[in-house]
Amino acid sequence: MDLLTLLLENKLEETLRFPPTIKPSWLAEGVLQLFPQGSPQEEKIDTLIISAGIHGNETAPVEMLIQLLSQLAQGSLPLQHNLLLIFGNLPAMREGQRYIGHDLNRMFGGRHQHFPVGNESNRARELEAVIHQFFSEPAVMASEKHRHLDLHTAIRGSCHEQFALLPYQTREYAADFLQWLEDSDIDAVVFHNTVGGTFSNFTSEHFNVDSCTMEIGKALPFGRNDLARFSNITAALRDLIAGSFSIKRNKPAIKRYRVVDAIIKQHNSFQLHIPEDTKNFTVLSDGFEIASQDNQSWKITSPANFILFPNAHVAIGLRAGLLLTQLT
Ligand SMILES: [Zn+2]
Repeated sequence: MDLLTLLLENKLEETLRFPPTIKPSWLAEGVLQLFPQGSPQEEKIDTLIISAGIHGNETAPVEMLIQLLSQLAQGSLPLQHNLLLIFGNLPAMREGQRYIGHDLNRMFGGRHQHFPVGNESNRARELEAVIHQFFSEPAVMASEKHRHLDLHTAIRGSCHEQFALLPYQTREYAADFLQWLEDSDIDAVVFHNTVGGTFSNFTSEHFNVDSCTMEIGKALPFGRNDLARFSNITAALRDLIAGSFSIKRNKPAIKRYRVVDAIIKQHNSFQLHIPEDTKNFTVLSDGFEIASQDNQSWKITSPANFILFPNAHVAIGLRAGLLLTQLT
């Protein structure tokens, strides 16, 4: 049976074996901690969290993680650093759905308490506890750099196919982390202007991790993804896991954006005045009324001319789009 099937049937834990250089521990279903064993004392150990499938229908990152896991188990990918691999929402993956009840990636930082008890609120609580446990491990506490990559695929088309969203943080963004993002050949980075309930925001805000949400392109159902389209991300992840520094940028300079405003749907009358299939990072002209509800309207004000994640069909109280400005 292949590893993906074993994961979905919850048989991976009893089946998967690792070489003696790797010490595995399962912290919860779909959550695997791997520590390198017997590295020379002088070697610098970092800590890396890679998560996929927080949205169950975003299959390509799950397949990528399975591929990396298989290489680690076979010994063809050396493990240099402490690694936590997380398959986020397994019940939603089995259903091929984004989520079963509510969006898991809005619930972190204790926000799950405000949602009805169910698959996602339980998983958010569990993943938060797992992260706490992981960061109390002596090996992790003793490590120098802490990074978290939460891998996603976008629902809609995008003017920049691959991009990273960096959570809002008051401390400086680590230069070597930004450099890695650049070297990974993604097209753009977006800096958030407020905290939120995403998984990457949680690890950044509560554990000072260099975190981001990576949107790596569009996904198809399990088994139909062409992983070659994401080979730059796979190579960059292999580099981090193995502690090698082999990647370098081949694409034109990375674009940088900052979130200026969030369009929040607060009423049933809410409307977005752009086509349903408007791509992420589309430029809108100054003065254009992009959204309206009851007695409120949003107009584009330069330089915040770029729209990200436009979606009028979100629940009341949730974000229906972000307005961005491009940084030079
Ligand atoms: Zn997602």
